[in-house]
Amino acid sequence: MSDVQEREAESAGDGRELQLDAIVVGGGLGGLYALHRLRGLGLTARVFETGSGVGGTWFWNRYPGARCDVESMEYSYAFDDDLQQEWKWPERYGTQPEILRYINHVADRFDLRRDVILNARVVSAVFDPARAMWTVRTDRGDVARAPFCIMATGNLSTPRVPDFKGIETFKGRWYHSGLWPHEGVDFSGLRVGVIGTGSSGVQMIPLIAAAAKHLHVFQRTANFSLPARNGPMDLEIEQTHKAEYPARRAAAYETPFGIAGFPPPVKSALEATPEERDAKYEAKWAEGGSISFLYSYNDLLVNQAANDTASEFVRDKIRSIVRDPAVAELLAPKDHPIGTKRLCLDTNYYETYNRDNVTLVDVGSSPIQEITATGVRTADAEYELDAIVFATGFDAMTGALREIDIRVGNGPTLAETWAGGPVTYLGLMVSGFPNMFTITGPGSPSVKTQMIVAIEQHMDWIADCLAAMRARGMRRIEPSVEAERDWVRHVNEIADGTLYPLANSWYVGANIPGKPRVFMPYVGGFALYKKTCDAVAENGYEGFVMSR
Ligand SMILES: Cc1cc2nc3c(=O)[nH]c(=O)nc-3n(C[C@H](O)[C@H](O)[C@H](O)COP(=O)(O)OP(=O)(O)OC[C@H]3O[C@@H](n4cnc5c(N)ncnc54)[C@H](O)[C@@H]3O)c2cc1C
Repeated sequence: MSDVQEREAESAGDGRELQLDAIVVGGGLGGLYALHRLRGLGLTARVFETGSGVGGTWFWNRYPGARCDVESMEYSYAFDDDLQQEWKWPERYGTQPEILRYINHVADRFDLRRDVILNARVVSAVFDPARAMWTVRTDRGDVARAPFCIMATGNLSTPRVPDFKGIETFKGRWYHSGLWPHEGVDFSGLRVGVIGTGSSGVQMIPLIAAAAKHLHVFQRTANFSLPARNGPMDLEIEQTHKAEYPARRAAAYETPFGIAGFPPPVKSALEATPEERDAKYEAKWAEGGSISFLYSYNDLLVNQAANDTASEFVRDKIRSIVRDPAVAELLAPKDHPIGTKRLCLDTNYYETYNRDNVTLVDVGSSPIQEITATGVRTADAEYELDAIVFATGFDAMTGALREIDIRVGNGPTLAETWAGGPVTYLGLMVSGFPNMFTITGPGSPSVKTQMIVAIEQHMDWIADCLAAMRARGMRRIEPSVEAERDWVRHVNEIADGTLYPLANSWYVGANIPGKPRVFMPYVGGFALYKKTCDAVAENGYEGFVMSR
């Protein structure tokens, strides 16, 4: 048993009925920080987590090449300076095992584990309005009651395997990137099919290609990917960063994506000459990273003509890397402006298509008809495979919440309330669901930021709110219908002023058949969002209704 596994087993819950001050659902970065802050307020709390370990995303997504797209020095908690000074990240971008090690270290360092109940999926959360009390039940019989419930269930925590006909007949093994076996998978000598070319697909494809006998990549739509330029941590960069940590963390709060170190561009792409633009994009391509590239000019996400210049630059790069022109053309995205779907970062992704053992299959023009006993059948061919990997993403942003039976008394469930798409006030609370907070919920910047910044900002706000309620003797809080309606309208107006809604992305739920098309994250920028949340609190929690 590894160290981590041993600790996992020790901290499994025992099915007792618990009376608490707050219940936290989800044991990822969000849930653990929630627990830490709640304890700081002197409140009793427990975290319920489906998995057999803490870590959330970084516990589940163990596929080859799984890695953070935000640089290690940024993608970490800011709440404790000793922690950020002492932790050493070995690479520019953290790998999944490294980030999971970090999260486990945090759980031990802050003695969080004793209040985390593992292997416990929350199946229902019901609020009793008379007692102002949530009752939460898990799939293994735990019952917990508390006046407050904090949903830290994650934006990308509900893996989605498409409903392919015949999947149960497949004689080989199949995997989903977000439910990867802990013991790893040995693809050597196998004929492997990867379905999906989003962030996870782009990260795993080069590594699976290197191991497999043959790799077929089934691509429905091409995504833009930029080179990560990963490498060992530069010690000078690390030292400078650590010396400047407090200032950098504060500066991150003043940025749109919650990441400091990228001066906001002041110029339009259309004001630059083609030569200037090429030189700029070339430098950004060489530097690596997505924020830096999208920060080449100030209008890449709001002006189609400006965006076209950046999109075409990357398409040309793909054409220059991939030797077969037909394959290059298939890999060059043409259905969305760059940056309007999650922009991938890769190491040798496009180069992988020059390998003799890799074949790109265009399932946009010839869709997958069924999974057979021996592989995949598309409209015009059959592919024999020993293993299939679904890199098909998640029911993003609302999936985990919709799976829980959340209701107030005998009222409608949250899933029913959100049948037309999620409605929240600030992505923090839902009208009609008192005393339930959502960490990085839909309607907040969430997935459009460095998410640990967003998590800390949300939980800090929630902790301040709980303290303010206690000081005023209040027991109940929820947003007013008007505040929620105005916020939803504002989130939509901001999105409509950008190019984001043009893409069929998971930001609008396009990867889930039947999911209402609503732009879910707030894209007005993290800085503006935080100022709004702060102003709401300063104005006596404007838009919220508190009662005794
Ligand atoms: C492959 C991948 C790469 C990513 N890369 C980046 C990146 O580069 N930068 C970035 O900022 N973000 C990235 N993210 C987003 C990442 O999810 C967040 O950065 C962060 O880990 C979110 O933490 P969280 O605690 O909010 O959610 P999660 O880490 O998703 O944790 C939620 C937890 O809640 C649990 N849960 C859900 N429902 C229930 C239930 N009913 N009962 C009990 N437990 C439940 C889940 O099991 C999960 O463990 C990436 C995500 C993925 C999937």
